[in-house]
Amino acid sequence: MEAVVLEKQHDLRIRDISLTEPLGPHDVRIDLRTVGVCGSDVHYYEWGKIGPFVVNEPMILGHEASGKVVEVGAEVTHLKVGDRVCMEPGIPDPNSRATRLGIYNLDPAVRFWATPPVHGVLRPSVVHPAAFTFKLPDNVTYAEGAMIEPLAVGLHAANKARIRPGDVAVVMGAGPIGILTALSALAGGCSQIFISDVQQPKLDLAASLGPIIPVNVKEENLVEVINRHTEGWGADIVFECSGNERAAADVFKPLCPGGTVVLVGIPGSPFPFDVSAAQIKEARIENVFRYAHVYPRALALMGSGKLDVKPLITDRFSFADSVKAFDYALHMPPTSVKVQITVADD
Ligand code: ZN
Repeated sequence: MEAVVLEKQHDLRIRDISLTEPLGPHDVRIDLRTVGVCGSDVHYYEWGKIGPFVVNEPMILGHEASGKVVEVGAEVTHLKVGDRVCMEPGIPDPNSRATRLGIYNLDPAVRFWATPPVHGVLRPSVVHPAAFTFKLPDNVTYAEGAMIEPLAVGLHAANKARIRPGDVAVVMGAGPIGILTALSALAGGCSQIFISDVQQPKLDLAASLGPIIPVNVKEENLVEVINRHTEGWGADIVFECSGNERAAADVFKPLCPGGTVVLVGIPGSPFPFDVSAAQIKEARIENVFRYAHVYPRALALMGSGKLDVKPLITDRFSFADSVKAFDYALHMPPTSVKVQITVADD
């Protein structure tokens, strides 16, 4: 099949690759429709690795995906041929200790699309466990369906925050994950979000999506803004979504006493963590790695119209232009948030 293959660092091409994927009794075969370009895909393209995950042999990119079911295994009951679906890209070992504990995202044996050595889904079709395949509501498009994956990260972060109605939250970073975390926090009951970044167009987009106040940290001091709006008390929750070492080091400063910090963005290198700043505020610190058990909720929020991700999909490329899409994403203008590739039209 024709796929978008990362041969090695800086070497991405569309080429034929032979994959044999037998359909097990609990699997479905899916023809891909839309695949989003994630920061991690771009990072592999640019650097050939993320932390301990190194691209040592050719790997198909892409993990934010939607498609149509074309074949179902003998034991599959909740899906049928023709269903429009999105898929969780991480397949844990169903018998692992982590999976039995419900923390399947932390299973050391998890096989996650486009994380070496596992192929991603920028290709015509894939076989996937039905248990990790979810039907799209009729009013959710394939493009929106491919946004469920990054939205799941935001919802997992909102769950970890244990939001109480009326909470005020700060979101550091207005990339796709930051904005989707802000929308998730609002859906979870926050009354007001402050979102910080250095790219004004992204901040403006975020501000148009709800009670979200943009803070351009090139022009304003985030802590001063929060103090002004909270009578000097601070925000109940700080979501760190920038992955920027300098921003992350300041994560306790806008936080209220007794508040919660949720670390979502993964920094490229270790950053200083101010233990005493956390202690003085008795900060609760939560960490987010991917997500677990949130796809049905993400789809319900999208299907009900409560959470709209369409404004975030700023750029679309055809499958034939996939390499162009990655080069674009590598040097993305500040007006762009999410780049998607249409693998096939319906
Ligand atoms: Zn992603």
